[in-house]
Amino acid sequence: MRLSNFFLPVLKETPSEAEIISHQLMMRSGMISQSSSGIYSWLPLGLKVLKKIENIVRDEQNKAGVNEILMPTIQPADLWKESGRYDDYGKEMLRIQDRQEREMLYGPTNEEQVTDIFRRSIKSYKDLPTLLYHIQWKFRDELRPRFGVMRGREFLMKDAYSFDLDHDECKKSYYKFFISYLKTFRRMGLKAIPMAAETGPIGGDLSHEFVIISETGESDIYFDKRILSEDSKIEDVAYDNDLEQVVQQYNNYYTASDEKFDQTEFDNNVAKDQQTKSKGIEVGHIFSFGTKYSEAMKANVLTSEGKQAYVHMGSYGIGISRLVGAIIESSHDTKGIIWPNVVSPFDIGLINLKSSDEKINNICNDIYSNLLNENVDVLYDDKKDNPGVKFSKMDLIGLPLQMIIGNKTIETNEVEIKYRKSGEVKYIKVENLPNFVQEIKKSSAI
Ligand code: ATP
Ligand code: MG
Repeated sequence: MRLSNFFLPVLKETPSEAEIISHQLMMRSGMISQSSSGIYSWLPLGLKVLKKIENIVRDEQNKAGVNEILMPTIQPADLWKESGRYDDYGKEMLRIQDRQEREMLYGPTNEEQVTDIFRRSIKSYKDLPTLLYHIQWKFRDELRPRFGVMRGREFLMKDAYSFDLDHDECKKSYYKFFISYLKTFRRMGLKAIPMAAETGPIGGDLSHEFVIISETGESDIYFDKRILSEDSKIEDVAYDNDLEQVVQQYNNYYTASDEKFDQTEFDNNVAKDQQTKSKGIEVGHIFSFGTKYSEAMKANVLTSEGKQAYVHMGSYGIGISRLVGAIIESSHDTKGIIWPNVVSPFDIGLINLKSSDEKINNICNDIYSNLLNENVDVLYDDKKDNPGVKFSKMDLIGLPLQMIIGNKTIETNEVEIKYRKSGEVKYIKVENLPNFVQEIKKSSAI
């Protein structure tokens, strides 16, 4: 993409309403544009990152054997009356009426909708477990929308649901999602701590929040610091392994978010010098809640003994739009964002320092088309701005690698390569550039 064609409305000033760094950087780098409180449009740069995160989440759900579906954003109130949550949910739910004056709502979550799909189609234990997920916009009329996309009113969530014959089977599904979440966050370069959590109004007995440590996090978290170095080679764990054992390795360490925290338990389980209290951002949440919805909504199956049994369910969420902000919170410096390669909006930023010079333009055009031929997603700054503007813009938007072409390239026949994260600079002869590109592609340096 040529920057001259790319819609990148960067801001010079930090918007005063943006309290935390991720919100400031997302606004400054033109990733989002506010529509109303807690509701945003996603502009090209932001949308590319959102899609990359979405695709990692999707890929890991598919690998775990979960089926992708797409449920509507608008749901009938009747389903929520059946489960009893229509009244319980309160003011966070956006309630609407259609022209027939039927009560509808904009989905804040989908337990009811998915249970309805399940009960219409699955009648026998032989079809269990059933694992379904979708990636869809949610609306919750949060009391205090803030921190940009971190606590929005409209936000993108991956929510999955499991249906099993009994509690033991349900636990197996729960472990599967537990492992898939560790894999998902690891792939994004995040260290997410699974924290024992309160099950809240949703009920049940198994619940973990996945939290990343960040000063700007909204929840207080308490944990045994050794969990940070727990590495059970999560990317290699196959789903047909004994997953309970892997989950147990994490559960051996005391962890708790604020609602569940108990000081005496903390002291009894964790030596003082291993006790850590911090702030965290919740990026995922998994629950198992037994037959709460299946009983209320009559979702039952025929067992092998020919009896009817209510299915045991779990639900599993990941905040996809929140992750965009959370990744920035954990990866930035004073100049701007530093994207982990896998979620970066482009692989390489190509900077033409003198677009009035025909020779330099020719070199840049060659490099640009070669990179495109190699399927490298490159943002080519071909604009007429001065070098200072170009450098600070490229640093702000945080692409992992920059290639800089200017007068020096003509003199020395060398391209300057700058790594955004380390600041490391090196020079490569123009004719050696194709080899260099092959190397960095292989080593996943981009
Ligand atoms: P929180 O405790 O942050 O309010 P929650 O417990 O209400 O979140 P869940 O119902 O567990 O959230 O939703 C699953 C995931 O969706 C959360 O882990 C979070 O990453 C994301 N999420 C929830 N609410 C919001 C929001 N208002 N804006 C952006 N993402 C959100
Ligand atoms: Mg939660």
